[in-house]
Amino acid sequence: LPEIALAGRSNVGKSSLINALVNRNGLARVGSTPGKTRVINFYNINDVLMLVDLPGYGYAKVSAKERQSWSELVETYLTGRKQLKAIVLLVDIRHQPTADDQTMIRFIRESGYIPIVVANKMDKIGRSQLKKQLDLIRTTLGLDESIEIIPFSAVKKTGVEALWQRIEESLPESTEHGW
Ligand code: GDP
Repeated sequence: LPEIALAGRSNVGKSSLINALVNRNGLARVGSTPGKTRVINFYNINDVLMLVDLPGYGYAKVSAKERQSWSELVETYLTGRKQLKAIVLLVDIRHQPTADDQTMIRFIRESGYIPIVVANKMDKIGRSQLKKQLDLIRTTLGLDESIEIIPFSAVKKTGVEALWQRIEESLPESTEHGW
């Protein structure tokens, strides 16, 4: 099956986003201890695609050794992964992306993927802040205007359709969409 991977800092809402995407509560584990997700979780979506939940990064209390094992795990997964069609980078719309996010976006690019950037927790900011925050994310991640940032709220389920559409566009033509 084609795979779509999801990456982001711990606590950015990756599990919540997966739940919002598949519209089922209690599928992904939400609110797990930050920094403790040390495996890659695969979610089979209707036998059409796999959502691949990469372990969160950037948790402050993580040792150098754990960072190393994170990098090895993720690099091993990403390297030569033919069925991987896109990587979604999830950031928090309230904050400037971190150095780890910048590393991740570079990593995505160097692996030959065009990132799908999702700005989560938009329910936490006012409408008037939206453009400023999106610009901050764009600038910090070095995204040109051709890359759309999808404002998202896993809580309010805002942006779900836009994200599904981007995911669909990344899938091979032959993929039969069962949703
Ligand atoms: P993960 O570590 O990236 O998997 O993050 P979780 O999905 O466990 O979410 C971390 C925390 O952020 C939890 O308390 C969630 O309820 C909260 N959260 C996730 N998405 C949103 C969102 O869109 N809006 C708000 N307000 N909170 C969110």
